[in-house]
Amino acid sequence: MQYQGVLKKMESEMGRPIQYYMLFDNDFLNVNQVLDKELQIDFIKYQCLRCGEDLPIFRQGFCRNCFFETPLAGDWIMRPELSKAHLDKEDRDLEYEKKVQLQPHVVYLANSSSVKVGVTRKSQVPTRWIDQGAHEAILIAEVPNRYLAGITEVALKEHVSDKTNWRKMLTNEVDDEDLLAWRDRLKPYVPAETMEYFLDKGGEIHMDFPVLQYPEKVKSLNLSKTPSYKGKLKGIKGQYLIFEDSTVFNVRSNEGYYVSLGIS
Ligand SMILES: [Zn+2]
Repeated sequence: MQYQGVLKKMESEMGRPIQYYMLFDNDFLNVNQVLDKELQIDFIKYQCLRCGEDLPIFRQGFCRNCFFETPLAGDWIMRPELSKAHLDKEDRDLEYEKKVQLQPHVVYLANSSSVKVGVTRKSQVPTRWIDQGAHEAILIAEVPNRYLAGITEVALKEHVSDKTNWRKMLTNEVDDEDLLAWRDRLKPYVPAETMEYFLDKGGEIHMDFPVLQYPEKVKSLNLSKTPSYKGKLKGIKGQYLIFEDSTVFNVRSNEGYYVSLGIS
């Protein structure tokens, strides 16, 4: 089997285990089906996800110019507290920002190696947790827009991490945490402005990743340095492919790379 196309983050579907899909030019691949098979990845060219040109990818699948121009990469995406659409203020494209920011968002706790707080659109649950490789998560608050989620996260970050340790996530050095207890502990730090949106109800949600074998150490595959790689797929967690030789490949951070993928 041979697939070809520009890499985009894997699609996923909740299940036991979670199902992953890679979308190519004229085909899609259910990645779970190729566990225990040899994958050959060859980097062919860049293809910016906005302009389509063969230009080095700067961040998030975009060439440098597009990254600084597209409304899909505004600062408010990584820092939700900078959202301004609720004030009718434009960052790069007010119409797009209103569409994305002015919809229900959630603040959550997710545990991928240790507990962290995060923000996402309500429609992105549980996709966001799957993408982070979290094996358990819980909602803290559901708010009407991105700004309110952002200021809640900023307040809670004083008391809990907001980072994922991807090496621990991939080697499965994970602690089981009582997220209900964490939510209770953090409640006093929810800002007054968003306290009415705090969620007392709702338990932990668990994610079951398709991993046959976890590596002890990980080495990350970077296609711009190693344009050709072959290895046996042993698992999928977060947005990572995990191979038998401890190589891990972050599909999401290789967005915009046009590749061929051979399976044998
Ligand atoms: Zn571009």
